[in-house]
Amino acid sequence: QVLFHLGEMITATASVSDEILELLGQEMNYQIQVVSPEEEDRELLGSFDISFGENHGGEEDLAARPPVVTVMGHVDHGKTRLLDTVRKANVRESESGGITQHIGAYQVPAELEGEERLITFIDTPGHEAFTAMRARGAKSTDIAIIVVAADDGVMPQTVEAINHAQAADVPIVVAVNKIDVEGANPAKVRQQLTEYNLVAEEYGGDTMFVDISAKQGTNIESLLEAVLLTADAALDLRANPDMEAQGVAIEAHLDRGRGPVATVLVQRGTLHVGDSIVAGDASGRVRRMLDEHGADITAATPSRPVQVIGFTSVPGAGDTFLVVDEDRVARQIADRRRARERNAELASRRKRVSLEDLDAA
Ligand code: GDP
Ligand code: MG
Repeated sequence: QVLFHLGEMITATASVSDEILELLGQEMNYQIQVVSPEEEDRELLGSFDISFGENHGGEEDLAARPPVVTVMGHVDHGKTRLLDTVRKANVRESESGGITQHIGAYQVPAELEGEERLITFIDTPGHEAFTAMRARGAKSTDIAIIVVAADDGVMPQTVEAINHAQAADVPIVVAVNKIDVEGANPAKVRQQLTEYNLVAEEYGGDTMFVDISAKQGTNIESLLEAVLLTADAALDLRANPDMEAQGVAIEAHLDRGRGPVATVLVQRGTLHVGDSIVAGDASGRVRRMLDEHGADITAATPSRPVQVIGFTSVPGAGDTFLVVDEDRVARQIADRRRARERNAELASRRKRVSLEDLDAA
């Protein structure tokens, strides 16, 4: 009625713009606040006295954590092969006597200046995963390895991958792959990439280029070293391990025997068996945790990827997760997120219906 008097011809079921809502608020003495889903989530968590994405505690509580790496590049340039080679060359198969499992991410040891450290690889190549996570506001990658085949050079998806990484402010290490192939021209790749502000150290820039053969396993150690050097030079990778765990779900599926199984990446805190957990609109209690060898582990510290069994439904890839005090709270957060999604869904359906009504009229 009020809108009608203001000259807005609107029916009871129509959706209205933010501006009209604000106008309506002014007319009726309500303060209208339009919030994004992310803001809504922050408010929701705030009402439970939970802050997401923050290391609780002070400087002294922060400990170094391994870098998390995503492999990107043009199709057929060797992303999958590189991920396989790194996994096979470095995962200590003997630990659980098992063959490496594909759980969506894995950790490998790497040596820098005589010190053994770890690197976490997200095991799904391509920038789809990268952008899906970013779209949900989860920053899951510290460093991007851009793979460029030396016999093919810079291609459209190479450029796309570089753009994604640069837009996300993620430092890049370039793996010039397939140096075993006849006609490979690693120098040309370096020259081509200067156009995208990736200037090799040997040309006075600050990007590390490593010539590799993913097929023959050449220079893989040097590539891992370059990742650690880049991390040390460009990033301050620290997190508080002594808080309730937070992070991001990398992938999830329904297993016939085990129920919902999710691979999560711990970003802060330590995840323990027995923790009450919520990821997106899924909740549960961590019944078991498995590493990339299929071995049971009881605690997962920052940058560790781990398979979690115990969710009551399947979380979405890219959903952020957090641990809360009680099952009840985890359930409530999941319920409210679900209700919110249902409302959004209903609202969009209503909108469709009213538009169809208009069409019919
Ligand atoms: P992706 O599309 O980027 O994941 O590329 P793949 O890893 O599937 O590799 C595409 C093809 O190139 C496969 O046949 C690989 O075996 C091959 N390949 C990958 N790396 C190398 C390499 O270093 N040398 C040679 N000769 N072939 C490679
Ligand atoms: Mg592939």
